[in-house]
Formats: sequence, C-alpha cells, structure tokens
Amino acid sequence: MAEQKKYTGGCHCGKVRFEATTDLSSVIECNCSICTKRGLLLSFVPSEQFAFVAGNEAALKDYQFNKKVVHHLFCPDCGIESFGTGQTPDGRKMYAVNVRCLDGVDLASLKRTPVDGRSR
Ligand SMILES: [Zn+2]
Repeated sequence: MAEQKKYTGGCHCGKVRFEATTDLSSVIECNCSICTKRGLLLSFVPSEQFAFVAGNEAALKDYQFNKKVVHHLFCPDCGIESFGTGQTPDGRKMYAVNVRCLDGVDLASLKRTPVDGRSR
C-alpha cells in the first residue's frame, strides 16, 4: 500500500543533507548506463516535498550526458550521487532521490520496479 513518509538522507560525507517525503512501496531500478554503474535505486519526489538540511545543489558537481535532461549531481568530496534533478513534461522540478542514501531504509525489503531507461 502506498504510504508517504518523511525520510532524511544525504551524501556519504554529509556535505549535503536533505529531507524527502516519498512513498517507498516501490522504487525504480533503471538499466540506463549511469544507473547501472552507480547502482541507483530511485524514488521521484516533487520539489515541494524535498528540502535541504545541509548544503544545496550549488555544493555539488553536475554531470549530464545523452539528452542532458537529468542533472546527475554528485558530491565533489565523497563522490556520492544522493539525488539528481529533472523536470516533468509539464515543467515541474523533480528530485530523483537515491534511496540507497536515505537513512534507516531496509533496502532488501523494497519492491524494485525495473525501468528500461537504456532504450529511451
Ligand atoms: Zn559528500
């Protein structure tokens, strides 16, 4: 059952910390080149449900590839991508939170939904 909960998370060194309210009853496991290499498990969070506790996007390094629609932001100190950003088709900002970077989440219990990002 869908349940929105507030989670805290961040990169490894703590330069960036955030709160995100989202539903982890299903998380996205994408097979695109970067998600594969980084091992990302994603939950998409609208910007009004995402807030920084420490640092912000300007503290991170931006990496873009392919169609350059998604900003893969990673910490210049510890190298972790705790979230990326992008836009919905109607122009709303979304945060693609790396569920592996959320505190206190039992990763093995999550239902993973495969997404075929590789062939998009
Ligand atoms: Zn860091």
